[in-house]
Amino acid sequence: MVEKAKKVCKNCGYLTNSKECESCNSKEFLPKYKGRAIIVNLKESEVAKKIDAKKQGNYALKYG
Ligand SMILES: [Zn+2]
Repeated sequence: MVEKAKKVCKNCGYLTNSKECESCNSKEFLPKYKGRAIIVNLKESEVAKKIDAKKQGNYALKYG
């Protein structure tokens, strides 16, 4: 399943369609972003460490 582009959390880069970021509970979002990282395993993902991901899911690599 291919998910459509979502909005990106201004604070942590988490991609969501919710009103609140499911990762950091921020309510500030940006409509544009570039690149996407799908974090499945937080502990084993190098990308997760780089972007400091706290929750599995989709993250934008560049935003803001
Ligand atoms: Zn967030």
